[in-house]
Formats: sequence, C-alpha cells, structure tokens
Amino acid sequence: MTYRWPEPDFGFLAGGIPSDRDGLYFVCHGNDLRQSFGDDGNWRPVTKEEVSHLEDARSHFMGHLGNQPCYAVEAPEKGEHEFANLRMNLGRINNTLFNLAGRSLQLCDWFRTHRYCGKCGSPTTENEGDRSMVCERCRINFYPRLSPSIIVLVHREDEVLLARNHMFPEGLFSTLAGFVEPGESIEETVRREVEEEVGVRVGNLRYRGSQPWPFPNSLMLGFHAEYESGAIVCQQDEIAEAKWFGCAELPNIPGKFAISRWLIDAYLAERGFND
Ligand SMILES: [Zn+2]
Repeated sequence: MTYRWPEPDFGFLAGGIPSDRDGLYFVCHGNDLRQSFGDDGNWRPVTKEEVSHLEDARSHFMGHLGNQPCYAVEAPEKGEHEFANLRMNLGRINNTLFNLAGRSLQLCDWFRTHRYCGKCGSPTTENEGDRSMVCERCRINFYPRLSPSIIVLVHREDEVLLARNHMFPEGLFSTLAGFVEPGESIEETVRREVEEEVGVRVGNLRYRGSQPWPFPNSLMLGFHAEYESGAIVCQQDEIAEAKWFGCAELPNIPGKFAISRWLIDAYLAERGFND
C-alpha cells in the first residue's frame, strides 16, 4: 500500500492584508513559546483577548490559517505566563501549528538579531515588502536565516541502518542527518554525511519529503538511500553506535512527529512490514 505523508494543511498565505478578524497569536519570548492548551490537551495559539496586555509589543504578520490572520508576537517579558521550548510540545501540537510556531520563533529571533548591519554596524530598517532588514548605506538585505540539512534512511533490502547519536538516550536509534555545506548539492551532502558518519557508500537517492525543524533554523530534506558498499565505521565524536536492523526488529525510534520516523515508516510500508 502507499504510505501517506502527514501533509500539513497549508490553508494560509505567506502575505496579504490582515483582516479585521480576531486572529491567532504565537507569543514568543527569547527561544520560548507561550504555553496554552485546548480542551483536548493539545497546544494552541492564544487569542487577541489573551494578548491585549501586549498591544505595544512588536508583531509580525505570517498569513492566514483558514480565515484567521496569524501573528508572531515578541513578548518583552514573561509576566505571569508559562513559556517553554517548542520541543516540549512535540506530540501534542499538530503539524500545521508546529510549523507556524516554529516560524514565529524564527521571525522574532531574526528581528531581534538583525537590528544592525553586519558589515558597517549602522542600524537597519525593516523592509515590509520582502520581510528583510535593510542597511540603507550598504544596500544589503538581511533575511530570516534557514539552514538546509539532509536526513536519510539508508536501506539494504529488508534492513535499515540506524544510528545513536551521543546525545540520544540509551537504546534510541534514528536516521542519519547533517547540514548542507556551502557549494554542495543536496545529493552530495547525503553521500558525504553517510560516509562521514558511518563509513558506508550509498546510491539511488530518493527525495521523500521535508520538515521545518526550528531548533534553531533547519529545513530537513528527507531521503531514502540504497546501500552500495563498505562496512559500518562510526564517526567517533558524533555517533555512539550504528547498526543494521531487520525491518521486523527495530529498536526504539523517534515519535510520529519527526521526519526521521516518517522516513522509517515509509520504507517499512514499501517493504510490506507495517499496516
Ligand atoms: Zn551597512
């Protein structure tokens, strides 16, 4: 059967004029997001009423979700509200809201950290047209920063290669991942990262989907790659352990919210191992 990717419902536009509707507010403070939960226990953005005390705060219009305008708001202080890293909400936030919450954190961070030109030190001004901060003197635009990275499931018939990073809890294995270097194609990154991290060579790369990963600003590009040659040799400083696992004998793997899990589930489905 065909595996269905958890396609987010992108019912919002990237620009446009905010309507006079109430709106959805994603309130940020530093790298943290204001915590707010619906009756179902899932994270939700707050309402206009709930941000009425922040009317002087800087906000960034992000587009519409359905017919509701969405805003990122930078709270100058936490006040009596609870804030937490967005990671804390994984598993209890839907895909679309996760992406919008990540976007709001990244926009607030970009705005906060690009007040001055990196070349001449002059104050920048905001260019509303294309969401950039501009140095009029140098004529440089500073855009929100994104770091493309690859994430790849290496497979060999009914086996998959999974690795445990030093930072993972004992027993948890995942796919391989790494950042794209300047001047490198995405395909080159996949081959290089796999060879660097576990010493094997891969081919037959298949792009399977992407996930914004705002910790702090990655865009994960997900691949399946077929094993070609080599024995596993772990990169000492990064990988604690890497092994081939039979599709029917997987170890602990990341939760359903992560693209690493989608990549594994999709491969299992292709091989007829899951429902
Ligand atoms: Zn400048």
